[in-house]
Amino acid sequence: MNTITKAYSPEAVKEAGGILKAGGLVAFPTETVYGLGADALDEAAAAKIYAAKGRPSDNPLIVHIADIESLYEIVTEVPDKAKKLADAMWPGPLTMIFHKKDIVPYGTTGGLDSVAVRMPDNKAALDIIRAGGGFIAAPSANTSGRPSPTSAAHVAEDLAGTIDMIVDDGEVEIGIESTIVDFTEEIPMILRPGRISLREISAVIGEVRMDPGILSKPAEGTRPKAPGMRYRHYAPKAELVIVAGDNDKVVGYINDKVATLRGEGKKSAVLSTDENKEAYRSDIVRTVGKRSDYREVARNLYKVLREFDEDGADMIYSECFEEDEAGYAIMNRLLKAAGYKIIRL
Ligand code: AMP
Ligand code: MG
Repeated sequence: MNTITKAYSPEAVKEAGGILKAGGLVAFPTETVYGLGADALDEAAAAKIYAAKGRPSDNPLIVHIADIESLYEIVTEVPDKAKKLADAMWPGPLTMIFHKKDIVPYGTTGGLDSVAVRMPDNKAALDIIRAGGGFIAAPSANTSGRPSPTSAAHVAEDLAGTIDMIVDDGEVEIGIESTIVDFTEEIPMILRPGRISLREISAVIGEVRMDPGILSKPAEGTRPKAPGMRYRHYAPKAELVIVAGDNDKVVGYINDKVATLRGEGKKSAVLSTDENKEAYRSDIVRTVGKRSDYREVARNLYKVLREFDEDGADMIYSECFEEDEAGYAIMNRLLKAAGYKIIRL
């Protein structure tokens, strides 16, 4: 298939809308990552997303909408707290899960009776959603298992030749996927952390829980509720290990490992922050930005993980980030990329 790439423009939106309405696939930017869109109410179109990404069929898709009225057309009930949260956070990097109406096919929800819904805060995305009929399933536009795309070039790397169109509007703002809150529970539960934190959510709606499966390796009995959180994700090709502890010790430890590996004829790489990048003796040092700016770190994380794949390193060592308000979502992604391998000094 010949994939058309166009810069965001009224003409590109019109063309994208036509493709989506005809059951095709269009990748487009959102504020979180690039999404791979298809008509969410068309089971055959949704099936094409799974095929293009190589996504397991039990991993449900998020339905993207462009106005609040659309929400009521696809879910049976919107609890008051969810309405309040939508008023406060939409459009924005927040996904909410509700009981679905029959018009949402099981092919979109991975067989579940619930549906995940989000209104993205990105003009190109909103225009394309409207042009495509108003209900667009749009998971990250990457091959399953690769880091999510934060630019149109990343989408092309994975999906050129497989999808109908890519709409390019530069690099995304946030760089990690939306926060997911499940409202099918008595007490709302965060299934995936993102830019919007538990504290910000609870400031609007009161009590909210964090899925206990989020930061730990999925083990017996701690199965995360979002099916997608079970799969190894965001993984670079080389083995990745996170090193945690006092900054000087971390740099020293990584440099020792780098020297040992070099002695064995192996190539190592380091995921660094700006503050430390001169201190490493590895041939490949890639920085995700300033340690003092976690928003910048989030924005660069997937790009850097993709770049490591080009480097052909045997081993990647990564600095660690605080699992606080701002760092929680970053650590969630990094731990998954590392297969939960972390060395605490
Ligand atoms: P992605 O579209 O790649 O950002 O992934 C969507 C995430 O939302 C995955 O982790 C899914 O498992 C999760 N998700 C989507 N719909 C539901 C649902 N109805 N119930 C629970 N998790 C969901
Ligand atoms: Mg994804």
